[in-house]
Amino acid sequence: MQYTAINPSDILALFFLIVLIGRFIGYLKDRAEQNKYVVKRTPKPSPSKKITKEEMEEQAAQNRVQIKINFEKYYQNLLKDKEFVNKNTSSLDNFIINDALNQFDLHKLAYLNGIKLQINTGWYDLVIELLRELDELGWDRRVDCIKEKFGELRFYSDTPHQDLIDAYTEKSKEICEVCGKPGELRIAVWWITLCGEHAEERIP
Ligand SMILES: [Zn+2]
Repeated sequence: MQYTAINPSDILALFFLIVLIGRFIGYLKDRAEQNKYVVKRTPKPSPSKKITKEEMEEQAAQNRVQIKINFEKYYQNLLKDKEFVNKNTSSLDNFIINDALNQFDLHKLAYLNGIKLQINTGWYDLVIELLRELDELGWDRRVDCIKEKFGELRFYSDTPHQDLIDAYTEKSKEICEVCGKPGELRIAVWWITLCGEHAEERIP
């Protein structure tokens, strides 16, 4: 029986091979362990095809429709079951201005102008008073914005009677925005016109 002599270098090579395999198995185990703690990310969606101009316009049109629906809903809720002079008025040209107007008429005027009131309830009567004065001067009932800015009333309307509107802006500086009682322009973090009671409540 003849034995083939084993070359010592072969033993060394085998030894290194075993060590290498052992390390590789260890590496695989470590990786498996790490993966347990890695939150699997949802694969990114494949890059969508470029949005065409038509699709963008379509999206914009849908957004406009949604804004219109929300606007209608806002006023439906606000004016639902309320009694006011212009309850059945459907256009600005037919909008009635008289001594019996209330805050819901004011909202209706805003609605017919496609805007929302951006003032507190304390100024509603002041604005109604302004509407009456403007009406006497032949106002067309068009208004772009009714809001508070720097504690003052802003009433944006294309009318030759800007001086009258300015006078109401001045008046607003002496009327509490919250309750309508006499107030004064105060500077808290921002400008706000308040009576003493509401100033104590709102200004630290
Ligand atoms: Zn007040």
